[in-house]
Amino acid sequence: MASMTPVAPVAFAATRPAAARPAAGPVALQAVIHAPSAGASSQVQGLDWPALREAVAGCRACGLCESRQHTVFGVGHEHAHLMVVGEAPGEQEDAQGEPFVGAAGQLLDRMLAALGLTRGEAAPARQVFITNTLKCRPPRNRNPSPAELAACGPFLARQVALVQPRVILAMGRFAVQSLLGSDAPLGQLRGQVHDWHGVPLVVTYHPAYLLRQPADKARAWDDLCLAASCLDAAAG
Ligand code: SF4
Repeated sequence: MASMTPVAPVAFAATRPAAARPAAGPVALQAVIHAPSAGASSQVQGLDWPALREAVAGCRACGLCESRQHTVFGVGHEHAHLMVVGEAPGEQEDAQGEPFVGAAGQLLDRMLAALGLTRGEAAPARQVFITNTLKCRPPRNRNPSPAELAACGPFLARQVALVQPRVILAMGRFAVQSLLGSDAPLGQLRGQVHDWHGVPLVVTYHPAYLLRQPADKARAWDDLCLAASCLDAAAG
């Protein structure tokens, strides 16, 4: 993959940090996120893309199935180099069945464009795969419960296993907590490259948060640059 040369847009003006050199070896994933049930993991392990989509669409493993309009599976390249993982579908995502739509989705698109990336049709080095930690919307956008995160975890684990991304960008507190099994404040987990079953993982703010706290966009730009550095490192 060509070296990425992100150009900081005005909204993300900041300095790109020195290149990180995370471990970027072969992906050897277990179907776990943060202690999901063994039963759910074993049922999802081994599913291919069509079977996984079907399993998510028909899932009733937690109570969120009762209030959803649509499950939100994810979009993007099935072998994307960068996988973006958000939190849970909101009202518009639930209505449309697609992750990161509306104002937060537009901000995510601008953030990705600053790195030369897109959710639209492109080669796997440029087209990302975008999904959420939870595939169904919590009513009134309440915080997801640990049980809901655990129930849905095998789906995300299987998506990561199928995509085999070179880097994961985890956006928002619940994505981070699910993937890293940490309840540390997001601010403490930023600025370092975590390892998720052999995949470098970078933590940043959710675009919806950045819309409310634009002062943190500079920090988010630093995080994107760190993810770009990891992609460069993985490309050798
Ligand atoms: Fe199934 Fe996940 Fe939806 Fe719960 S949130 S019903 S585990 S797809």
